[in-house]
Amino acid sequence: MSNIKKIKAREVLDSRGNPTVEVDVVTENGIFRAITHSGASAGQHEALELRDNDKSRYLGKGTLKAVENVNKIIAPKLIGLDPVAQETIDNVMLKLDGTENKDKLGANAILPVSMAVCKAGAASKGLSLYEYVGELYGIIPHMLPVPMCNVINGGKHAGQENSIQEHMLMPTGAKCFCEGIRMVSESYHHLAKLLKEKFGAGGVLIGDEGGFAPAKMTLVEDRLEIMLKAVENAGYEGLIKIAMDPASSEFFYNGKYKIGKKSFSGGEMVDFYADLCKKYPIISIEDGLAEDDWKSWVLMTKKLGAKVQIVGDDLFVTNTKRIQKGIELGAANSVLIKLNQIGSVTETLNSIKMAHDQGWTAVVSHRSGETEDYFIADLVVGISAGQIKTGAPARSDRNAKYNQLLRIEEELGDKAEYPGIDFRLDHLA
Ligand code: PEP
Ligand code: MG
Repeated sequence: MSNIKKIKAREVLDSRGNPTVEVDVVTENGIFRAITHSGASAGQHEALELRDNDKSRYLGKGTLKAVENVNKIIAPKLIGLDPVAQETIDNVMLKLDGTENKDKLGANAILPVSMAVCKAGAASKGLSLYEYVGELYGIIPHMLPVPMCNVINGGKHAGQENSIQEHMLMPTGAKCFCEGIRMVSESYHHLAKLLKEKFGAGGVLIGDEGGFAPAKMTLVEDRLEIMLKAVENAGYEGLIKIAMDPASSEFFYNGKYKIGKKSFSGGEMVDFYADLCKKYPIISIEDGLAEDDWKSWVLMTKKLGAKVQIVGDDLFVTNTKRIQKGIELGAANSVLIKLNQIGSVTETLNSIKMAHDQGWTAVVSHRSGETEDYFIADLVVGISAGQIKTGAPARSDRNAKYNQLLRIEEELGDKAEYPGIDFRLDHLA
């Protein structure tokens, strides 16, 4: 038995230079460390991210209250427990918090403890983290994900308003994960060359997720065209498809969507996407509609859902209550999974299960504010999700995850599978 001997939280920095919470869980097997991530285009219905609001530190974004909640309230209750009791430990924290939205302790206090406990549990069992997550989820995992690589950043991640947020490459024609990541890396460099030629140094400025943020390229059509040209120049035409995350809650005002100078109703947005899908090889659209515009989501799923993956991020916030509503309404066919939207490993696994049981896909995702913690790489393999969204194949906060997937693929050897174009598997409606 290697029970929890000590838990210690501290404030560290994330990829945007904002404070976040790191937690060490200590057992006889060593120190197990996890850091929570943080969104910019966060959904209104997410669990609470507790910030100090003390303007004299980090412009009010300090996380000392969350740190104290771990050290003073959570830690004393967990010392002595066996880290393999993931669900019990998460439930102890949920009870200690006692609110619907983690308003008391903060999801940024509970989640890093939950993740570090999970890492400690894996070590207790002598398993790799992805194998252990598989055990918690009830499967023997061997599927690597198709990456969704965000090579052009817009919206809040690039200091832009009323603009599509993420333009992603998916190497569906690769034979394995390492080939896929190479294809998108090479395409990324070809894209840099094209953008440099067109806009000079301003074309290759980088957004929050490591993709390029060419401020002068505002039209989504232009962005997709240049991405496809880069793919062609890299020699992968047809082997790489496109996924988008407009993050449309960010440009939804009083019932209207505003992209650039244009204004759209929900129905017109669906037509806009239908048109884009006719022109470009788009296979997945996330948050094409706003977080409470359920009616338009249903319309979009009816119209495009058979061919295109319709992913709910701000719509579902990794919360089973909202996913259940989406299932009942037929509002999507896929759930984006972000650990800190809900705030514990157990609840995250429950959300994934609900989606998978329905024949929906689950796409494991980073946040725009990330860290060196690559927990989500093990998570995505552990649950056999078949898709991960974790930014451009550049910047160590993003590549920490891709690099861990390369290691997992190596460890799995002949057993490793890569779904390629079948990433929706039997999840197709
Ligand atoms: C997203 O919207 O999917 C995303 C990763 O951005 P953020 O973390 O800023 O919510
Ligand atoms: Mg999103």
